[in-house]
Amino acid sequence: MIPVNSVLQVGSFPEIMQAEIDQSLKTVRLTNPHEPVPAGSYEAILTRSNTLIPESLLRQIPNLKVIACCGVGYDNLPLDYLKANSIQASTTPGVLNDAVCELGIGLLFALLRRLPAADRFARSGEWQEQAFPVTTTLAGKTVGIVGLGRIGLDLARRLEAFGVTIAYTGPSAKKCAYTFYSSAVALAEVADVIILTCPGGPETEGMIDAAVLNALGPNGYLINIARGSVIDESALISALQQNRIAGAALDVFESEPQLNSAFIPLHNVVLSPHIGSATRETRQAMTRLAIDNLEAFFNHRPLLTPIH
Ligand code: NAP
Repeated sequence: MIPVNSVLQVGSFPEIMQAEIDQSLKTVRLTNPHEPVPAGSYEAILTRSNTLIPESLLRQIPNLKVIACCGVGYDNLPLDYLKANSIQASTTPGVLNDAVCELGIGLLFALLRRLPAADRFARSGEWQEQAFPVTTTLAGKTVGIVGLGRIGLDLARRLEAFGVTIAYTGPSAKKCAYTFYSSAVALAEVADVIILTCPGGPETEGMIDAAVLNALGPNGYLINIARGSVIDESALISALQQNRIAGAALDVFESEPQLNSAFIPLHNVVLSPHIGSATRETRQAMTRLAIDNLEAFFNHRPLLTPIH
């Protein structure tokens, strides 16, 4: 049982998530994390991984013991502050793998087969004048995955069905049949397509830079379903403008929801508005798991999916 008004809900939640929350608990809401915290005695915060939680917010909640975050990245949380103040935190890993992998595969084909451009071409009547330009086949290509974790591995398994060779990079080699490369540059040298599924945060910031893009080369494609911070966006924009890579599909951006306007006129980029986990089933499952973590905390049990 979660005590009434002991949970501060921070950030905005889509209707489907709010409905799931309202069925289980009564929260106090703070939509803008930079506004003062409403008076109350909160032990828990419920938030989403796209809401940046500033330390200044947490300092206003002296009784805070736990943060339940919907999403799997936790680069939005001030981890040093949490550690120093013994505040636990949980995310919602696993339940969003299906949706994020499906988006990754969707973006992959949108990019290689130029589906958004083909749709515009068919609608505009241009088809009556000429045929749509030929594109390229995925089968036979090498797909390099940056971050072979829960999502990366699920994606690799799905991709096997398309007849590709899988390679990957990460902090260390895993026990698996795929070939490990010790750096993103080394992976980009062998890959036709690179897909990013690693965490955001300081350790991966700007990891996909000009050197990686040059190694990927003019026939290489980049897909980002991880975090915008992983790519050096200005290096990517100049590589796309100069056709030093074949194209990119991006679900996440450095300053989202603001887009760098240089992306807009480019024909070799497919853009989506951070919708990796944005399916009804997944958003409900994420919310449920976040609430289950809060229930575990208030029932003096260990969190189900804690951040270590
Ligand atoms: P995960 O299981 O923790 O996997 C992350 C993987 O990245 C791990 O294998 C990790 O290696 C690896 N990694 C860590 N540092 C790296 C580095 N410097 N270079 C390359 N690889 C590195 O997390 P997940 O559940 O798969 O989620 C991955 C990320 O996807 C999340 O952090 C989030 O940012 C993003 N995401 C995006 C969306 C979206 O809507 N687009 C939705 C959900 C998640 P080790 O195994 O050795 O630690």
